[in-house]
Amino acid sequence: MNNKIHLSIADIGKSELKYVQSAFDDNWVAPLGPNVDQFEEVVAKYVGRQASTALASGTSAIHLALKLLDIQQGDTVFCSSLTFIASANPILYEKAEPVFIDSEFDTWNMSPVALKKAFVEAEARGKLPKAVVIVNLYGQVAKMDELLEICNEYGVPVIEDSAESLGSSYKGKKSGTFGKFSIFSFNGNKIITTSGGGMLLSDDQELIAKAKFLATQSRDQALHYQHSEVGYNYRLSNVCAGIGLGQMEVLDQRVKRRREIFDIYAVELAEIKGLHLMPELEGTFSNRWLTAMTLDPEVVSVTTVDLIHHLAEFNIESRPVWKPLHLQPLFEGAKYFKHNEDVSKYLFDNGICLPSASIMSDEDVRLVCDKIKSFLK
Ligand SMILES: *Cc1c(COP(=O)(O)O)cnc(C)c1O
Repeated sequence: MNNKIHLSIADIGKSELKYVQSAFDDNWVAPLGPNVDQFEEVVAKYVGRQASTALASGTSAIHLALKLLDIQQGDTVFCSSLTFIASANPILYEKAEPVFIDSEFDTWNMSPVALKKAFVEAEARGKLPKAVVIVNLYGQVAKMDELLEICNEYGVPVIEDSAESLGSSYKGKKSGTFGKFSIFSFNGNKIITTSGGGMLLSDDQELIAKAKFLATQSRDQALHYQHSEVGYNYRLSNVCAGIGLGQMEVLDQRVKRRREIFDIYAVELAEIKGLHLMPELEGTFSNRWLTAMTLDPEVVSVTTVDLIHHLAEFNIESRPVWKPLHLQPLFEGAKYFKHNEDVSKYLFDNGICLPSASIMSDEDVRLVCDKIKSFLK
């Protein structure tokens, strides 16, 4: 690990251990417990939502959201194409059919133009989707006003996949407050971590109560173990929630640091023609979870793959932008609605994520910039 510069890595603060210690002191290391209750409260209050349930992962949060929206075999669910596989895997758990929606260039997120096309086609076929999963990529919130207006017009609920955007906001509202449900991930590489975990949020207390029920094996109220429907073991442990409580205390510092790292890249790389950093839409505030950029193939002679290999020689980790789900073998044959040109494919072909961990020093970031500059010149 020593000298490697990581893409994104956990950054533990001073008080996580205190909460974890209290779980040990109380001999409360089981799933659920006081840390879990408090963690749910703290996160819901931070974003401004009425109800939340802490879960084993962001993926399980998306799965439960789909369950609560009654997604069943044969139903369709619209989903951003440019995202991590976890946004869409739960659609397959329920044997529903994903339909992928392209990005636009202002946010790299779901294109309202492509979404509208998908709805028009679905309506003509007489089969509207049961839900729309909207992803906020690398911390940038999608064009929520436009997207929600379209979804509301068709009366279809939204699941905001805010796994990567805790601490971001859109027109003064925190990410994680849009849509009927929103989800966060506390995986080790996200802006804050519980060493693995997630959360489902909503303003509907009853639905969240139902989520807690489903996440604890759907156990009916009875002295004996009684079950009337299928359930899951999806709850977060009291120990992990303790880490999360400590991490919430430093969340705003982590966002500030990720943004500072972005700013260093922006200054250092400004002179390179054909290099474009991921934009931040006016009126929005990105947590800059990952600094991402594109290299214009008509201006820059090296590809992002060349650059990734070059940086790796100096023990610097970088990655391509997510491979769009409509191009994944798993989803071969799935429907896909393009913006105009295929934007998500362009971003994948020409996009790269740079080391952005909040533990990086300014010197680390400058070193990465030097290697990029010398390689591109
Ligand atoms: C990380 C991530 C998830 C899944 O979260 P896990 O906690 O790893 O299950 C979902 N969607 C997106 C966009 C993510 O980046």
